[in-house]
Order: sequence, then structure tokens, then C-alpha cells
Amino acid sequence: MTQGFDTLQVHAGTAPDPATGARQVPIYQTTAYVFRDADHAARLFGLQEVGYIYSRLTNPTVSALANRIAALEGGVGAVCCSSGHAAQIMALFPLMGPGLNIVASTRLYGGTITQFSQTFKRFGWSARFVDFDDEAAVAAAIDDDTRAVFCESISNPGGYVTDLPAIAAIAGKAGIPLIVDNTLASPYLCRPIEHGATLVVHSTTKYLTGNGTVTGGAIVDAGTFDWSASGKFPSLSAPEPAYHGLKFHEALGGMAFTFHSIAIGLRDLGMTMNPQAAHYTLMGIETLSLRMEKHVANAKVVAEWLEKDPRVDYVTYAGLSSSPWNARVEKICPKGAGALFTFAVKGGYEACVKLVDALQLFSHVANLGDTRSLVIHSASTTHRQLTPEQQQAAGAAPNVVRLSIGIETVEDLIADLDQALTAATA
Ligand SMILES: *Cc1c(COP(=O)(O)O)cnc(C)c1O
Repeated sequence: MTQGFDTLQVHAGTAPDPATGARQVPIYQTTAYVFRDADHAARLFGLQEVGYIYSRLTNPTVSALANRIAALEGGVGAVCCSSGHAAQIMALFPLMGPGLNIVASTRLYGGTITQFSQTFKRFGWSARFVDFDDEAAVAAAIDDDTRAVFCESISNPGGYVTDLPAIAAIAGKAGIPLIVDNTLASPYLCRPIEHGATLVVHSTTKYLTGNGTVTGGAIVDAGTFDWSASGKFPSLSAPEPAYHGLKFHEALGGMAFTFHSIAIGLRDLGMTMNPQAAHYTLMGIETLSLRMEKHVANAKVVAEWLEKDPRVDYVTYAGLSSSPWNARVEKICPKGAGALFTFAVKGGYEACVKLVDALQLFSHVANLGDTRSLVIHSASTTHRQLTPEQQQAAGAAPNVVRLSIGIETVEDLIADLDQALTAATA
């Protein structure tokens, strides 16, 4: 990284608008872009020249955001999508095909587990879920049809920390990419590419935007994976029939994945981010480091307070010295273990539901990474589609409540939790 993170989060990917000098990135609210002439149009469509054609593919406001996220993650390129879930499908699309599988962590956002275990089937894809703390099991789950290994850096909802270098080594040995969902950490707390990730995916809906205004997603490519080393990734290494037989890796090198995602992924799947959403996320990213510092500081105080409270059974925050994942924080996310965790309320499911209803400052919503503190009972909501075993493995057991700690005055958060715990356990 040539410039510091705080500089990049404000400046990367943008310059004063060439047409007007506008200092802030304009919202290019346009569907299409006028070609200079017929030759220009043909060159753009043939990828002989890079430029704007149609906003399903690229848009200057969205490109500014993609380039900023790529810079913050230390990747060579990025593509923005309409949501985090879209980014996951888009990340896997060039790698997968009917009959192929991925090996995924059991500790994932509930919606991701459902996407991987149910919706994948419609494409003929499958996912094998493994405990990623069991390295031998991860290696054993990979077979000749595996095309990616997938995990979260800090996992939703428990806030567990994954040993990324260990998992990257297993994926590397098998010659397949490691895809890391870095939503909960954000590039300020964790940069998965530095730990060996091939692709990083984000729900920009969460901390990157930071204020609960828009949904979005992003895929960042490290630019380091050799897509041609085996015959496993023909969309990138062999003549691509969906793009006049272009060999993306041979023609575009480290940018192969990014160009494929735009030229084929966005073109044919259409999971495009709109320029308004990109604008809100660009505004949010400018203060990412400041917000993450406060999120982490507040989360630590709240988790320590809850852990000492007799009405609480346990707290899963990896930032606590009592956490089995605490030793990994220093290595994987040295600036902090994020601000999302669960805690078990004495009194089980009933007490959890009462607690959620009694909280006043915390908002009861299915979101995280907002400036506002949020609460949800995962087992009855985000992880509702999962079996009891899957809920347990994901850290979303019926007796736990998930908190997303915001940037308010921490004493106010504790006062709210205190009164709600009294109401829930009376
Ligand atoms: C929210 C979330 C997603 C899905 O993102 P959307 O923007 O809601 O589609 C994926 N992974 C994690 C870790 C999330 O928290």
C-alpha cells in the first residue's frame, strides 16, 4: 500500500470530475454513453478499448466505488453488485458449472447457508459445509470437482475469527481459490488478500456504507491466482464461448476475473449496482476507519459488561480474552474483532424474545454494521430456515441474541441492555 488507509478511504478511485471539476464524485445517473463513432463502439464491445457502454455493465460512479474498495482491500480490481448475495453468485459464476462443488464453513451468515444449500441446487452446484477450525476436515472435503473454498473472516453471527492463512494453504495446495466474505471485518480490520485469499466478497450494505441506507455488494480480485494452471477454470483459461472465444486469462492476466465479471457476469446475470447506491456507499467509506475504531471500542466494553452479568450465560465476542478465538485476533484482525457477536440469555428462547422487545435504544432489525446499535434473535429470523444442528454450528442457537454494536455513547447502550435484561429475566 503506497498511501495510508485513511487517505485511500477518502481519495482512492476518484479524482475531480474531468468534465466539471466537481470535487465530489458525481452521481452519473445515466443508462448509456454516446460513442465517438462506429469504430469506437466496435472497439468497446470487442474489449480492445476500455470505456463506458451501458450501465448494466459499467457506470463511472459505480466504477469509482469499485476502485476504492479494490484499493482498500489491496486487490487489482473489483466489481460492484446489487447486494452481498449477488456478489457471492457473481464470484462463483466463472468458476462453477453443473456437478461442481464448493467447500464452505459451517459458520456463515444464515442467508448464505440457505443460498449455498438450497438455491445452488437449481444450478447443479453444491456446497459441503465443514467446521473450518478442523483443517483436516476442510482438506478432506475437497475433491476433483471442488472449485472454491468459502469462509467469512469474522463470522456472522458469532463473531468467530477464521485462521485465514491455514485455510489459504489448504486451498492453495488443492489448486483452487479461497473466497473470503470480509463483510464483518471490513478492510480496516482485516485484509484477507494479505492472508492468502484469492477473492474477497462484501455485502457493502453493512459497514462499508455504514448507515443502513442501501444494499450492495462487491467482489475484489487479488489478481494472483493462476487460472490456467489446471483445466479446472475453462471460463477464464480456455476460449470463452460467451465472449467470441476470448481467452480471458491469456488476454488480460491479473485482470481476467474482473473483466470476466463485467463482460459476462454483469452482462448476462444483470446483478448491477445502481449509481445512487454507489454514491451512498462512497460517502460512507470516507469515514470507515473512524467508525470501525468506535464500533470495536464500544463492542469490547459491552461484551465485557455482559460477560460479568449474572443474567447472561456466555458471550461469543472474539475480542474477549476468554474467547477460544481470541488468540487469532492479533494475527488476522489486529485492530479488533469487529462489533458483532451473540450472547446467551439465562431463560433461553423465551427470555431472548422478551429481551428483544424490551430494548429501546437498540433497533430490532435484520441488518448489521449500522451506526445505530441493532439486535436480532437469529434462531427465529435470519437463521430460521436452518435445521437445529445448522443453527448450533452457525452460532445461532435458540438461546442467543445477536448484537451489532453501533457508535453511540457506550454507557447508553449498557443502560438499555441492563433494563431489558431485567425485563427479560424477571
Ligand atoms: C448481510 C450479509 C450478506 C448478504 O448481503 P446482502 O447485501 O444482504 O445481500 C452476506 N454475508 C454476510 C456476512 C452478511 O452479513
